[in-house]
Amino acid sequence: MTTNTFSSLPLQSVMLENIESLDYQLMTPIQAQSLPHILDGKDVLAQAKTGSGKTAAFAIGILDKFEPQTYQTQALVICPTRELADQVSKELRRLARAIPNTNILTLCGGKPLGPQLASLERNPHIVVGTPGRLLKHLQKGSLKLNALKVLVLDEADRMLDLGFLEDITSVIKKTPQVKQTLLFSATYPDEIKNISNLIQKEPIDIRVESLHDNAKIKQVFYEIQKGERTKTLAAILEHYRPESSLVFCNRKQQCQELADDLWKKGFHALALHGGLEQKERDQVLVQAANKSTSILVATDVAARGLDIKDLDAVIVFEISPEPEVHIHRIGRTGRAGSTGLALSLFTTSEIRKVTAIEDYQKAPVTIEKPSTLKARENFKLSPPMVTLCINGGRKEKVRAGDILGALTANKSLPGKQIGKIDIFDHYSYVAIERPIAKQALKILSEGKIKGRKFRAHKLR
Ligand code: ADP
Ligand code: MG
Repeated sequence: MTTNTFSSLPLQSVMLENIESLDYQLMTPIQAQSLPHILDGKDVLAQAKTGSGKTAAFAIGILDKFEPQTYQTQALVICPTRELADQVSKELRRLARAIPNTNILTLCGGKPLGPQLASLERNPHIVVGTPGRLLKHLQKGSLKLNALKVLVLDEADRMLDLGFLEDITSVIKKTPQVKQTLLFSATYPDEIKNISNLIQKEPIDIRVESLHDNAKIKQVFYEIQKGERTKTLAAILEHYRPESSLVFCNRKQQCQELADDLWKKGFHALALHGGLEQKERDQVLVQAANKSTSILVATDVAARGLDIKDLDAVIVFEISPEPEVHIHRIGRTGRAGSTGLALSLFTTSEIRKVTAIEDYQKAPVTIEKPSTLKARENFKLSPPMVTLCINGGRKEKVRAGDILGALTANKSLPGKQIGKIDIFDHYSYVAIERPIAKQALKILSEGKIKGRKFRAHKLR
């Protein structure tokens, strides 16, 4: 039997205290099963669904081995996207709080090289990055991995989907023969086994059951005719009226088209996919997290980086050919004790995908006719908040307190109707309750923040 307290692990007391201060009371199943082997220096191949705490599993492993006095790169984490790399760096920094002078560097594409080169001269202890940019630095000689002790491939399944295999193997060629290699993945397709065989030595294979407790997710499939997809999706939204939902598409072109179609029908929907520019992407993530959009339309890859809790519904606009991906998608709803809703559309020609899901989950699915959905005349789904964008951010020394101050000065607006404030380098975003959004915009665009004038506008 495995115990699931962190104190059962051979960790230093500062680390244990820090874990406690993060309010991580017990290990998650993947942590409980993988950490003893990771701390033992073994190669580990670990699979568990999104949100199961895989990051902390390898982060604790990395931090346990590393020597702050040695100014060389001792650990490398390869991630599929910039968002995920940022999240991993954040978690590493939180867990490294107890260890003074830890230098963690994030290296991702889409960012200028200059500052990265300067940071690399300071020999970071731990590097987190995306494959292409890591390879570029290795080729330039700016990143050196000759002292590497731990290599992590995070979200390995998505990296393979994105076609990073070649870049990853080129990066690995530049690392020492003797090292610990950890491979983390949310799903377990055959390619994962293959890459593990290529790069790991006698790995400990750990898989945490990814089937959900059926009682926690109400799952319904709707059999539709060709050409009825968008119409049925609208009917689903009108019938169930989820306050927040994530709609999955298989292709990124489809995401934008669908979000636009929903918009025309009166739903507040935003698309999240790899084709967005960085700023657009940031804005979508901000709006999803601060309750100013009701529907997010995303591909599997884009949804990976999303740390949004409390999704009322997951809607599968097009079923994935891989049943494991389907199970993973619907696992995003019904977290933390509440019952989730998973609603999927399929046409007769896709019945095989539905059967594959039944086989995979070892339980039959419920199929209903779209005619059972109650449509509502003139139904609109509006999110409770509106996001205002201000053209000043961290670099302009704008802080959350300044924005809140400008809005609430002389009791102009009540602070409790002002939501989340996000500050970026040159922009800030503030969520405002819908009924007072106009007033807030007027205050921000006509008044001053910290004595300076800024421009502000409302995001759609
Ligand atoms: P994954 O990579 O498996 O998708 P993450 O590592 O991003 O999941 O973790 C999901 C969330 O769970 C994060 O917000 C993280 O801080 C939190 N978390 C991780 N480990 C624990 C734990 N032992 N107890 C409580 N929360 C945890
Ligand atoms: Mg992860």
